[in-house]
Amino acid sequence: MAQETAERTPPLTALTEDEQIFRDSIREFAEARVRPLVREMDEHARMSPALVGQLFELGTMGIEVPEAYGGAGGRFFHSVLAVEEFSRVDPSVGVLVDVQNTLVINALLRWGTDEIKKRFLPRLVADTVGAYALSEAGSGSDAFALTTRAVADGDAFVLSGRKLWITNANEAGIFIVFATLDPAAGYRGITAFIVERGAGGFTVGKKEDKLGIRASSTCELLFDDCRVPRGNLLGEPGKGYKVAIETLNEGRIGIGAQMIGLARGALDAAIAYVKERKQFGKAIAEFQSVQHQIARAAVDVEAARLTVYNAARLRDAGKPFLTEAAICKIFSSEVAERVASLAVNLFGGNGFVKEYPVEKFYRDAKIGQIYEGTSNLQLQTIAKQLLG
Ligand SMILES: Cc1cc2nc3c(=O)[nH]c(=O)nc-3n(C[C@H](O)[C@H](O)[C@H](O)COP(=O)(O)OP(=O)(O)OC[C@H]3O[C@@H](n4cnc5c(N)ncnc54)[C@H](O)[C@@H]3O)c2cc1C
Repeated sequence: MAQETAERTPPLTALTEDEQIFRDSIREFAEARVRPLVREMDEHARMSPALVGQLFELGTMGIEVPEAYGGAGGRFFHSVLAVEEFSRVDPSVGVLVDVQNTLVINALLRWGTDEIKKRFLPRLVADTVGAYALSEAGSGSDAFALTTRAVADGDAFVLSGRKLWITNANEAGIFIVFATLDPAAGYRGITAFIVERGAGGFTVGKKEDKLGIRASSTCELLFDDCRVPRGNLLGEPGKGYKVAIETLNEGRIGIGAQMIGLARGALDAAIAYVKERKQFGKAIAEFQSVQHQIARAAVDVEAARLTVYNAARLRDAGKPFLTEAAICKIFSSEVAERVASLAVNLFGGNGFVKEYPVEKFYRDAKIGQIYEGTSNLQLQTIAKQLLG
């Protein structure tokens, strides 16, 4: 009986053969093709267009899209593995892949009609980046206080307003945009639309100059009487809040994956460095206090990874995962900051300069506690589940 149960319940971190092959192919690609670009992309705050093309060729921009639409037909867990592996080398590439898969494609798969899936999924798999536009200047944590307006007009909706902080906006061709059809109805007026780059009245505005994940574009979106065909409605009118809540619950696991990848990247760099760097006549890895700091960071990374994998596997199993997703996001982002900070310390002066990779991990870590729901909002979700 015990033996049978053990066979039916594989360890959380044990990968199936196909997951392992997938993970290894991304790790190899990230080392060979992403690593050489990391510093330059960070300094110029620009994602390499050639790299974006290669991400499509590798099949990482439509991981869960069914084969019928040209995708790889993978599971959510594959997306998590991809985001983790890219983020181990560059969390900016990690978030590009994350938004594409865990927010944009996820929302289309769940809420898109057959017609929408046929029109947009093959493009997202082949060559078109997606973006997810919910936040505005006056509505971040209070996302449903958004004011971008949608007005029905014949066979179209007319959108007016501004979105802020939109990841991938510089590269994207397809945008999921949340607007309200009826401000008086509160969250019940919120509706999701698919807007294409080039639509009249739609412009991608100012690009933010950021502390971290600098190669990931974050821009303002401007809608001035932008006509969106009725066929581009995603989900039902007034049900956009459901689209947003449900996709963001999953998106949070993706951010958890970004953060554990980042923490592993920082820890791997620190381990290599402390074995090389000599002080007092020996490698600093030989000092017990350094060994304990490395061990403590490994405990953190392992624990965070378990929370992320658990949330992702629950999601793939069709089980509730709301609390687990919030737990994995808050914990992984704290671990990422802690481990990246330790890595900077262990690199000494070299940790503070751009020639070495860890100062970037430290800068990049901060975003994990902010986007897709700040840490306070994650705590609120967890507390609500516990306290009712
Ligand atoms: C680099 C980057 C990329 C982003 N990408 C996207 C994207 O692709 N799409 C998108 O739609 N948005 C995106 N965002 C926006 C992001 O999701 C918001 O910044 C985030 O949700 C926080 O909103 P805010 O900035 O308005 O902060 P605020 O909501 O003003 O929060 C400020 C502080 O107040 C706290 N706070 C607020 N309300 C409460 C409360 N009720 N209880 C306790 N504390 C509270 C917060 O925890 C935080 O510490 C991005 C942001 C950044 C910086």
